[in-house]
Amino acid sequence: MAKSTSSKTSRGASYSKFRQKTLRDPYISDKGLKEPAICTVCGAIYAKKSWSFDPKKKAKYEGDSSLLKVVCPADRKIKDDFAMGFVNIKGKFVALHKSDIINTIKAEGERVKTKNPEDRIISVKSVPGGITVKTTSDKLALKIGKVLKNSFKGEHQYAFRYGDKHVEVDWIRDA
Ligand SMILES: [Zn+2]
Repeated sequence: MAKSTSSKTSRGASYSKFRQKTLRDPYISDKGLKEPAICTVCGAIYAKKSWSFDPKKKAKYEGDSSLLKVVCPADRKIKDDFAMGFVNIKGKFVALHKSDIINTIKAEGERVKTKNPEDRIISVKSVPGGITVKTTSDKLALKIGKVLKNSFKGEHQYAFRYGDKHVEVDWIRDA
């Protein structure tokens, strides 16, 4: 709870630094995915090596007889409850502002999903002492941590740790 500890934690966490590290996604083979493809769950189109909800892209490929029907990696991860990102949100402040914080997380999830259909929130759960968020990508967990850091200023602790298969972000605020 000491002031010096929390500022050190957030200073060490530079966004550009963690952007350099990209985890290998076990839901995407080394050969990549075949295209063009459409996800039968979310309707995203995969073409030119990226997923998109762009209606123009959809219209362009929908009549294509070679369009493959698949379930995109994000929807497979959601079904399997396979998270590549965890955000652990704790502290007295969190208990008092739970709905505000949850709304902020969900809004960020929607904003990011529109741009990249593969960065998705799997779940936002109220747990004893706080909230736990699971995401399909490490990038989204880091983005959520950053949004909390910017939206709910005050004396907080912010840190992240990379494992081999996922990233964990902690955001703690007591007062
Ligand atoms: Zn999908």
